Amino acid sequence: MAIATNLGFPRIGAKRELKWLLEKYWKGTIGAEDLLTGADQIRQANWKSQVEAGIGQLTVGDFSLYDHVLDWTLRVGAVPAAYQTPQLVSQLDRYFAMARGTQKGADLPAMEMTKWFNTNYHYIVPEWSEDQTFELNADALLAEITSAQAIAENVRPVVLGPVSLLLLGKLKGSSASPLVLLDKLLPVYQELLAKFNEAGVNWVQWDEPILALDLDDQAQAALKHSLELLSQSRGQLKLVLTSYFESLRENLPLAFSLPVDAVHLDLVYGPEQLTPALEHIRPEQSLSLGLVDGRNVWKTDLAKALKTAEQAASAISKDRLLIAPSCSLLHSPVDLAHEPEIDVEVKSWLAFARQKLDEIAILTQALNEGPASVADQLQENAAAIQARRTSRRTHDPAVRDRQKGITPESICRQADFETRQSQQQDRLKLPLLPTTTIGSFPQTSEVRQARASYRKGDLPEDAYQAFLQTETQKCIARQEALGIDVLVHGEFERNDMVEYFGEQLAGFVVSKNGWVQSYGSRCVKPPIIYGDVHRPSAMTVEMTRYAQSLTTRPVKGMLTGPVTILFWSFIRDDQPRRETCQQIALAIRDETADLESAGIGVIQIDEPALREGLPLRHNDQTDYLSWAVDAFRLASSGVANQTQIHTHMCYCEFNEILPSIAALDADVISIETSRSKMELLDGFGTFQYPNGIGPGVYDIHSPRVPATSEMVGLLQKAVDVIPAQRLWVNPDCGLKTRGWVEVEAALQSMVEAAHQVRTLL
Ligand code: GLN
Ligand code: ZN
Repeated sequence: MAIATNLGFPRIGAKRELKWLLEKYWKGTIGAEDLLTGADQIRQANWKSQVEAGIGQLTVGDFSLYDHVLDWTLRVGAVPAAYQTPQLVSQLDRYFAMARGTQKGADLPAMEMTKWFNTNYHYIVPEWSEDQTFELNADALLAEITSAQAIAENVRPVVLGPVSLLLLGKLKGSSASPLVLLDKLLPVYQELLAKFNEAGVNWVQWDEPILALDLDDQAQAALKHSLELLSQSRGQLKLVLTSYFESLRENLPLAFSLPVDAVHLDLVYGPEQLTPALEHIRPEQSLSLGLVDGRNVWKTDLAKALKTAEQAASAISKDRLLIAPSCSLLHSPVDLAHEPEIDVEVKSWLAFARQKLDEIAILTQALNEGPASVADQLQENAAAIQARRTSRRTHDPAVRDRQKGITPESICRQADFETRQSQQQDRLKLPLLPTTTIGSFPQTSEVRQARASYRKGDLPEDAYQAFLQTETQKCIARQEALGIDVLVHGEFERNDMVEYFGEQLAGFVVSKNGWVQSYGSRCVKPPIIYGDVHRPSAMTVEMTRYAQSLTTRPVKGMLTGPVTILFWSFIRDDQPRRETCQQIALAIRDETADLESAGIGVIQIDEPALREGLPLRHNDQTDYLSWAVDAFRLASSGVANQTQIHTHMCYCEFNEILPSIAALDADVISIETSRSKMELLDGFGTFQYPNGIGPGVYDIHSPRVPATSEMVGLLQKAVDVIPAQRLWVNPDCGLKTRGWVEVEAALQSMVEAAHQVRTLL
C-alpha cells in the first residue's frame, strides 16, 4: 500500500498564534512557560490536523520557535563563542539572542540571516569556526517524538542533513569549505540515529536540500560519505532522502545510489525527473512522489497527479510509494477555512496547507483502493480544475492582444542615458549629489490604526483620505525643512508594497489570513494572481499629484516593479511566469504614463526581488534575467526623456548580476550598501556601471543615528568609485519601520554630509 506523507506543516498557526506569542514573550508580557505551552498547543493542533486528514507518517521536528536551521545549529551544539557568554542565562535567551540580537545582559548582534533557497523564507546562517566542536543536544526533539507517539503510530522525525547544514553556514576566517568539518559532525548524527532507534522510530526524513543545487565533486562525495557512514549505525531506521524546489537533474543518479530507503522527488517543479528516477531506483528503495504543490495555493489536478502515481505504481508497485507534497507546507498559507471574503469562484480553485493534506490523503486512497473509493472527491476536484481552466475570469483577450503588440521599441527609452540625463537636469535643476529617500516614512501607530479602522469600515472614506493628506502634508513639510532635494509622499496609504498594488490590479485577489512565515515572527501575506492582469484605473496618481501640489521641489512617484510584484505574490501555475510578469509590466507602464501626464518628473520603480527570483541552477539564470530585465524595461520605457526613472534594490549581493542591473537602464538606482561600508559599490565601479547610483549611506534597520562625519566618509569612498555627476545620496531603504525622532536626526546628518562633500568637489 502507498502511504500518505507530509514534509512539514506551517508553524505560525492558522491565526498567526506563534507570532503573537513570540512578540508577547519578547516584550516581557508572558514568560518562558507560557511561550512553550502556547508553542506546544500549535504543534499539537498541527499534528491533530495531519492525523485527522489521514497522513500515515506524522512529521515531527518541523516545528520551530524561530527557524529550523537555527534549531539544528543548536542541536549539534554549535553556538558561536560570543553567544556562549554566561550573561545569557537561559537556553531560550541564547536562542533568541542568536536569532535577533540582544541588548539585555549581553550586547550582541543577531546572526546573519539569508533566504532559504528560492523561497521568501529566511534562515539564520550557521557560523562555523575552524576549531568547531559538536555535541548532540536533542532532548527537546526526542521529547517531541514521545509526545507525538501518543497520538500517532508512525512518527517521522525531520532531520536537516549534515552536508546541507554545513553548506548553509559559513566557516569564519577561512576560505575552505565548511565540509572540512564533516567528519567532526557525523558522530553527532550517529548518536542521534541511535536515539531515534531507541525511541522506536521507523522512518526518518533526511533533508538534504542542497541536492536541488549545482553540486561540485566535494559536495557529492560528502553526501556519499555521510550516508555510507551513517547507514552503518541506523539499525531498523529507514531514511527518506528529501530535496525540493527543483528537479534533481544530474544529481539524480547520485541520490538513488546512496544507501537510503527512499528518495523524494519534487514532481511539481521537476515533473520530468520521474522517468529517469524509475530507471535509477534500486529494488529495495521506495519513491516519495511530491505531487501537491507545497509553495503555491492552487488545488492539485488530482486526476493528473493520480495518473503520475499510477505510472510509478505500475513500474515499481504501489507498496513502494509515498505520496507527498512537493516540499514542506511551511511555504503555504495555513487554512482556507479562514477566508470568508475571497471571491467564491476563485476560492473554489484554492487549497492551503490544511486542504493540501486532504489532497494527499485522497490521492493515496485513490491509488490504494481505486478511484471509485473517492469518486465524489475526485469528481469535485475535476469540476474545480475544469472551471478554472475555462473561466473567463482568467483570460482577458484585451490583455493578450496588447501583449502581442509589444515590439523591441516598447522596451527601449527614446534616447541614451547621456541625452536623457542632460534633459532631466534641464528640467529638475538638481545640485550635485542630490539627496532623496527610498519612499516610505515612519508608519506610526496612528497611521496603522487609521488604516485598520478604514479597512474595518469604522473610518469613512473621506475622513481616511483627509487623514492621509494631512500625514502627507506633514511629511512633505518635514522633508522641505530638512532640505532634501527630491521628495516622496511617504507611502502612508500602503500596508505593503505588493499587496497595495495587488488590491487594485485586475487578476489579483487578496486573502485575509493567507500568511506565510518570512522569518521568526515576521509573516507575509502575498496576494494571489489568478488571471490576466491589467490596471482598471490609476493607482497612485492622486496621492502623488497631491504631494507634488504641496511643494516646488520634485516629488518622486513610487511604484513596485513587475518582477517584485510577481515574486512576492502567489503566482498562476497555468502559464509561464514571464507571461504574467509581462502583464504586470504593462499595468505599471500605464501607471508611469499617468504619473507623467500628472506632471510628475521622477518615478521610482522598486525591484528588491530581482535578484531573489534568480533560479537555483546556473543553466536557467540567463533566460530568467533576460525576461525579468525586459519586464522592467517594458514597465519603465514608455516615458519621455525628461522623466527620470529610478529603481531601488536591497537585501542582496548585486555583483553577480551587474550586467542585468545595468541593462535595466534606469536613470538612477539606489542600493543598500552601508552595512558593507560601501564595499558593495566597488563592483559597480569595476564594472563601470553607466547610469546614476545612490549607494545607501546609512542602515535603516537600526535605530542608531549615524554621525555626519561617518556619512561624509562613506560618500568620499563613493566619489572615488563613481563620478560625482552620477552619484546620489540616500538611506539604504525605506523608513517605515523607524520612528520620526531618529529619522529626522539621521536625515539631517545625511543632508549635511551631502553639503560637506559637495564643497570638497
Ligand atoms: N519604496 C519602498 C519603501 O520605501 C521600498 C521598500 C523595499 O525596498 N523593500 O518602503
Ligand atoms: Zn529596500
